[in-house]
Amino acid sequence: MSAQASIIEPVAFDVDAVRRDFPILSREVHGQKLVFLDSAASAQKPRQVLDAERHIYEHEYANVHRGIHYLSQVCTDRMEAAREKVRAFLNAGSEKEIVFTRNATESINLVAASWGRTFLNEGDEIVISEMEHHSNIIPWQFLRDEKGIVLRIAPVGDEGEFLMDDFAGLLNERTKLVAITHMSNVLGTIVPVKDVVRMAHDAGAKVLLDGAQAVTHIPVDVKDLDCDFYVFSGHKLYGPSGIGVLYAKEALLDAMPPYMGGGEMIRSVTFEKAEWADLPYKFEAGTPAIAQSVGLGAAVDYVTGLGLDAIGAHEADLLTYANQRLSSIDGLKLIGTAPGKSSVVSFTMDCAHPHDIGTLVDRAGVAIRVGHHCAQPLMDRMGVAATARASFGLYNTRAEVDVLTRALEGVREFFG
Ligand SMILES: *Cc1c(COP(=O)(O)O)cnc(C)c1O
Repeated sequence: MSAQASIIEPVAFDVDAVRRDFPILSREVHGQKLVFLDSAASAQKPRQVLDAERHIYEHEYANVHRGIHYLSQVCTDRMEAAREKVRAFLNAGSEKEIVFTRNATESINLVAASWGRTFLNEGDEIVISEMEHHSNIIPWQFLRDEKGIVLRIAPVGDEGEFLMDDFAGLLNERTKLVAITHMSNVLGTIVPVKDVVRMAHDAGAKVLLDGAQAVTHIPVDVKDLDCDFYVFSGHKLYGPSGIGVLYAKEALLDAMPPYMGGGEMIRSVTFEKAEWADLPYKFEAGTPAIAQSVGLGAAVDYVTGLGLDAIGAHEADLLTYANQRLSSIDGLKLIGTAPGKSSVVSFTMDCAHPHDIGTLVDRAGVAIRVGHHCAQPLMDRMGVAATARASFGLYNTRAEVDVLTRALEGVREFFG
């Protein structure tokens, strides 16, 4: 084969090699091999992430930013290198636009408390959707109750699809913000966010995208999307918990007041007044999640090393296969079948409550999530109290879908 040909040869996604990177996947649960299908709640961590955190604690740990001593400078460099990795991962224009938070929830609260309180007034409107996670509902309700703004809700269709025309109908000159999920954690629906951003901007509104699910499945380019805010959590991206990201356009961050006050976020302080630190530190009060940010950098390296396109293709195969296998189970109903959806499969069974399903498949070593998935308004919309949800990540296999299917057939036999 010529060198030319080998360059364009698609790199096979070697799921067995990937699985060897995740120590926890070789453990057993209730005497059965663990089948972990709950990555949409929190993903497992590869050795590369575990090693990065362990390395910093064993060899380099000290507090960052203010230190003149060697370790403090090493740690500062490590943390800023992680910020640069996140910047490149999102294709943001500058590291000033990458604020480290605790998680997606904190990122959204930061925007609501800082940007929302400053720039929104009574009668202004925020559009969210019916499929939002509570994290992208409650902060706006706080703002509604405090400032008298109006929340408008973009509906989803029966398949869980985003209804573009209905969304368009909600936009008007009072719309100041569209805060919408990039991908539903319950339905797997991918929202056509580029169109959403364009339409919102045409109406004069800013856009916040909740990328907590999307970043793990599809490449995100904030410049191309032209969104104003983008948020996600490290722990769903195979990184540590306790670290999250807020991307925001620099001009917006410049205009926004700090969210929390304390150390790290000031330039100078007297008892009369304070001057804020440069971006992004203005929004990073207190000692940050040092090792976790380094772990997040390692996680970003890990997924970019595999390639989000390759990961997405692998997961799309699992989704197709899971849809096929689960559809063969009598009385099982899929909730969320929008075209182009990603690898989250919610379902109900006519013979059993989701909690009973979850308990029984757990006996077979299969970890799925049951309940309302922090999206109660969406449960109401889909006419269910709860669902069972299997979510697939880069380390899952068709064989695991088979184990899930057999376990669900067992549920059918037990209750049927
Ligand atoms: C998980 C999730 C969140 C919240 O993430 P946290 O890490 O709990 O802050 C927000 N939105 C979506 C779509 C999610 O899946």
